[in-house]
Order: sequence, then structure tokens, then C-alpha cells
Amino acid sequence: MIPYGRQEITQEDIDSVEKVLRSDFLTQGPVVPKFEEIVSSYSNVKYAVAVNSATSALHIACMALGVGPGDFVWTSSITFVASANCALYCGAKVDFIDIDIGTYNFSINSLEEKLAKAKLQKKLPKVIIPVHMAGQSCDMEAIYKLSQKYGFKILEDASHAIGGKYNNEPVGKCSFSDITVFSFHPVKIITTAEGGMALTNSAYLAKRMQLFRSHGITNKEEYMQVKPEGELWNYQQLELGYNYRMTDLHAALGITQMQRLDKYVLKRQYIAKQYSKRLSSLPLITPHEPQYAYSSYHLYIIRLKLDEIKKSHKEVYNELRSMGILVNLHYIPVYRQPYFEKMGYNVGYCKNAERFFSEAISLPLYPGITENNLDFIISTLKSVL
Ligand SMILES: *Cc1c(COP(=O)(O)O)cnc(C)c1O
Repeated sequence: MIPYGRQEITQEDIDSVEKVLRSDFLTQGPVVPKFEEIVSSYSNVKYAVAVNSATSALHIACMALGVGPGDFVWTSSITFVASANCALYCGAKVDFIDIDIGTYNFSINSLEEKLAKAKLQKKLPKVIIPVHMAGQSCDMEAIYKLSQKYGFKILEDASHAIGGKYNNEPVGKCSFSDITVFSFHPVKIITTAEGGMALTNSAYLAKRMQLFRSHGITNKEEYMQVKPEGELWNYQQLELGYNYRMTDLHAALGITQMQRLDKYVLKRQYIAKQYSKRLSSLPLITPHEPQYAYSSYHLYIIRLKLDEIKKSHKEVYNELRSMGILVNLHYIPVYRQPYFEKMGYNVGYCKNAERFFSEAISLPLYPGITENNLDFIISTLKSVL
């Protein structure tokens, strides 16, 4: 069986976690701040707030940006549900932007049209969440320009994209956004088992996110609203927060994984190039790479040219799986999930998202894929098509 994604764990990772297990602190010790420092300096950004998942990071990011009841938050129609749920957690309404059929990121043209309409209806979004689909950055400068015109905040869901670049700068630098979020789930580029991080250049947003990740509590005297009387045990709850903290065990794994990040992305790039080259004569569309993006290739997605194939999308998908190639589909348009359909979204809401959904297949892609695996996947695909 060849899965679509898989972590790589080395002896170094195991040693690093074991060292924490034998130390004084399993959580809230020195390792989480060290991991934050490593990721923020890699990303060339000022502040990093580590949490127990990217979903939590998206939630505290929305809270820090002031998302609440009565607000609108927009994201891509093709993404994981967490990109939309974070707005719902805050009581806001969520809406979806159709994708560009070349990059699979949300379309800048669709966004612009939607913004112009929303302005007339006085329903402009407070926050827009671009998703760097498959690890390939959105055109952030174009989105930033629209944010200047329409006054929304930008929260990048870079769950797929640590190690990727936008115009030669690391994704996560937040040059054109308020906050960027990474995921460290095992199928993503590097892992902490479960884990996520929110990055920002704003001291204010960083402080708010630090509060929200830990019950809204501070023990820093300068943040306290009532003057403490010098007691060592003094802490104050200033906001309603959560327990979204990352543990030192998870951070220790993240630190050794970070040392291999660039190597992983190079390997993913290599595998993607092999696929693109060796599948080019088949009736399918391989990923398009715009000039501005260096993809971390979390996913390698093909689209079937169904009018040139005698089989259906489902048949191709099932045949590959029955041969032990555990292809996947990223993603069902979020608004077609039963939970969102109950909010009134219908089949066909985003034309390109529907088309993508009817043709896309994610091929296996992870650093541990061997040349033999690649030969097998490519020859099987040829015979199935
Ligand atoms: C994986 C993923 C998330 C959620 O990440 P977790 O760390 O599992 O919470 C959010 N958004 C996108 C686009 C993802 O792929």
C-alpha cells in the first residue's frame, strides 16, 4: 500500500522527544519557545505562537483579528473545512470564493467581483483567508491590494505551505498579511504529531493570540489590568481563552523536523517534477506553477481529461486504490458538506470548484517515496487510463 502522504521519523526525532520525557517539564517548559524561535527566524517574521493544531491557530487568529457575530469571513471553496470553521467558532458568517482553474487557489477575479457586489450590499468581509493550496502560494500582493481598497484583514492558511516561497520570500513572512498559520499534522510538510503555529509581525496580535491559547490568562505584570501586589502566584484572566497549548514533547519533535524542512521540500519538488514529466502524454492535467510561487508540494494533484477517457472519475480513483495506490481527493468544495448545505449553500455555488471536484485526484507524495514506488504509480496510472 502506498498512502498519499506520510511522515518521516528519524532516530534524531525520537532522541529529541525522549530527552523531554526525561526532563523537568513535559509542557510549558523551554522547548516550545525554542521551537517558536526556530520557525519565526526561518520565516523571517517577528512573532510565532505555537498551539496544538492549525485549527486552533486559525481560531485564535480570527479571535485576535476581532472576528465576531455580525462579521463576514471569506475563504476558498476548495480547502479543508478548518479554514471555514474558525470563523463559525467566533459566531461570524462564512462565504466561499471560487477557485482559479489553473492554480486551484481562489481566483483573484472572482474575489474582486464578489467584493464589488458585497460593497453595494454593505456586506464586506472583515477577514479573508487565502489558502495556499497544495503548498503553492496565492498571489498575496494582489490580495493585499484589494485589502487596501476594501478594508479587510488577511489571514493566510498556509497549512500546506511551510517551506514554500512567494516571490522568493518565505511563506509565513506576513509581508502581505496580518497572520499566517502552519499545520504540523503528520501528512503535512513537517510534523509535531498534532500541532500548528500562528505567525505575525504585529506585537498586538501576537499578545492577543498568546492570551487566547492559554485561557486568556497572563502572568506578565505589564499586561495585568489590576495592579498585582507582588505575590508570586498572581495571574489574571483578561479574556475568555482556551487551552490550545502545544506541549514540549511535540515542540521537540518539531525542532528536529525543522532541520530537515528544506531537504523535504526539495524531495517533494523532485517527485512532483518526475510526475509532471512522466505523465505529460496522458489524458490529464498536471499542476501549473506560476512564476511568483515556489511550492512546498504538500499535494500533487492531477485533473482527468474525462472527455478523452472511457472511464469515470470514480472508476479511475477506485481502480488506483484497488491496486494499493491510496490516492485521495483534496477537496470536496466546503459548501457541499452537509453542515454547510444546511446553511443554504447549494450544489453549483462555485463553478470552477465543482469542475475541479469532478476531475481531481491527489497522487502519493511524501519524502519516503522510492523510485520503485514512482515507477509503479506511473505505470499503473498509464494502464488504468
Ligand atoms: C490540515 C489543514 C488544516 C488543519 O490542520 P490541523 O493541524 O490538522 O488542525 C487547516 N487548513 C488546511 C488547508 C489544512 O490542510
